[in-house]
Amino acid sequence: MPETVAPGVYRTRAPGRTLAPYRATECYWIGTDEVLLVDAGDGEAAAREALRADWEALGRPRLAGVVVTHRHGDHVGGLAWVQHTWPDAPVYVHPAEADAVRPWTARPERMVPMAEGRLEAGGVTVEVLHAPGHTPGQLNLWLAAERLLLAGDNVLGNTTSVIVPPDGDLLAYLATLRRLLALAPARIAPGHGDLVEDGVGYLNYYLRHRAEREQQVLDLLAAGPRTPEELAARIYSDQPPAAQRAGVAMTRGQLAALVARGRVVEDGTGRFRLAEPGSGPAGVSPRDA
Ligand SMILES: [Zn+2]
Repeated sequence: MPETVAPGVYRTRAPGRTLAPYRATECYWIGTDEVLLVDAGDGEAAAREALRADWEALGRPRLAGVVVTHRHGDHVGGLAWVQHTWPDAPVYVHPAEADAVRPWTARPERMVPMAEGRLEAGGVTVEVLHAPGHTPGQLNLWLAAERLLLAGDNVLGNTTSVIVPPDGDLLAYLATLRRLLALAPARIAPGHGDLVEDGVGYLNYYLRHRAEREQQVLDLLAAGPRTPEELAARIYSDQPPAAQRAGVAMTRGQLAALVARGRVVEDGTGRFRLAEPGSGPAGVSPRDA
């Protein structure tokens, strides 16, 4: 049986290869006699069987559409199977994800661009939010009546999220976190991991975590120029090996955001150093970002 998240919101834990330490992608069904499916899992047999079994347990509702939170294979790998199973369902995708998502589809003509808007299925209404960060065209869903946020991979249930260039953009992500926080979600249903029962507290923790990571980078650079690898070796020294590898990419994202804000410059040899006060991009004071 799918787990009931809220009235008219259910989720299927679709097993599959995904971001460590997770072992499944969380897919959601929204509605009653007709439903929206949020994400399609990775398309392997275990994920397909989990989705089919839960759809049958829900009483085989009509599929009113599929919402793609983002382009990554653990969320769109099952799209072709979904379209074979429910050929007429529209597939809602943000325009910024469309080119990356199209190859995963069996019927690309059923893709419907969705930047922001409102969808309805079986009497349940959801607001679709463009929430860039983890990817440029990430879609998040807001169920105002339940104060429930479906956050895709912008929020993960048991760890902080992964914001890695080129898909990830830390500045966009921080703006998204603040926008999501302004909604004051009671609960958050993430792309991976457990349901978050204190949405506001968790988003505040995420913002605090990012600020601490940024300060760590600035403190290390205050001691002299460093490469991303050198920084990551210090910042992620207490993490397991997989997290350390991801840490280099995460640190590159952090540096890109600091460069964009004029706080840090690259010295032309792959090392980064603190910017001189006033040397930021024209019109941007290092302090006002
Ligand atoms: Zn994912």
